[in-house]
Amino acid sequence: MTTARIAVLPGDGIGQEVTAQAVRVLETVGRSAGLKFEFEHALIGGAAIDATGAPLPPQTLALCRQSHAILFGAVGGPKWDHLPQEQKAERGLLVLRKDLDLFANLRPARTFPMLVDASPLKRSVVEGTDIVVIRELTGGLYYGEPRGVEQFADGSARAINTMAYTSREIERVARVGFEVARKRRRRLASVDKANVLVVSQLWRDVVTRVGRDYPDVTLEHVLVDNCSMALVQRPTQFDTIVTENTFGDILSDEAAILAGSMGMLPSASLGGRVGLYEPVHGTAPDIAGQGIANPIAAVLSAAMLMRYSLNMGREADRVDAAVSRVLTQGHRTRDIAGAGGKSVGTREMGDLIVGELERGA
Ligand code: NAD
Repeated sequence: MTTARIAVLPGDGIGQEVTAQAVRVLETVGRSAGLKFEFEHALIGGAAIDATGAPLPPQTLALCRQSHAILFGAVGGPKWDHLPQEQKAERGLLVLRKDLDLFANLRPARTFPMLVDASPLKRSVVEGTDIVVIRELTGGLYYGEPRGVEQFADGSARAINTMAYTSREIERVARVGFEVARKRRRRLASVDKANVLVVSQLWRDVVTRVGRDYPDVTLEHVLVDNCSMALVQRPTQFDTIVTENTFGDILSDEAAILAGSMGMLPSASLGGRVGLYEPVHGTAPDIAGQGIANPIAAVLSAAMLMRYSLNMGREADRVDAAVSRVLTQGHRTRDIAGAGGKSVGTREMGDLIVGELERGA
């Protein structure tokens, strides 16, 4: 029996609750697939600040570097919001992404047929939506230099962030975009702001050049403002989207809404040797501790972990199918139940998915 070492970083708030269900799902699949998972838990975010004073303790980073993959929950919350930028809970995740060189963030946004009515958009608009947004994750405005705040003698101030990309950084994420598009419907939309930003002009030139290596993929360039409108007007026109860090942050949340709830959306961060898998949502302080969070995003993130880090595509398909069956049977957590609908809790939804996996083994 082979062993997969998984670093489990639940983080804060509902991160703790949903990650526990994702671990149960991995254990269940592992048992039937003859794979032993070794889960090692570590602190990150607010929980790490409380215990050690730092959002990413050195032992957590060391564990992540030595693991086959990382299963991540979410970090942050009002308790740590007052801290300076560099010490905030969310900083732990940003440093981890950078250290592991996780430059490509994959976020599928798909409307499940049985949940179309949970979307805030009309059925006629969202039905059939199936998009993957690939967001560049280690460059652009989030990391560019110079950055900082200048204080002036008259009491006023000036703040600077820089959107900077090298052609190498663009090329490697563009290649991920083309490769993903190739496994899907072979259409790639590269999103930029080339009518205004020079960095976007370089982005467009490099993506076009890389595209020559992928003649079987249809490439189009879309301005970010146009893309943002099109996502709510005609989301089915998109297949795979690749874009820079900040645009990707905003567009992937917009695409998320098409799926009905933040609680349904998984993600994978790839690039370096170790992949990191996490739900798109945050720590949801408004519902944390109540046992009502939707664990499906975390469970589908675990499926992505098997698909991309462990080369277990068949087992990942089994998890996706088990989730679909549970939804088809009518089970819902509160966020997707609709007004007045009956709902199950986090643990119960985990039981239902595990039960389906055991039946389908
Ligand atoms: P959020 O995603 O935590 O919550 C937004 C809304 O969606 C809330 O109403 C919440 O109840 C609901 N929601 C989210 N996930 C859900 C789930 N699984 N089931 C049911 N409902 C769910 O976003 P926010 O409120 O903007 O942020 C809260 C905290 O999380 C902040 O501190 C923020 O910085 C942090 N955050 C962390 C990450 C991360 O760790 N990757 C990502 C986003 C936000």
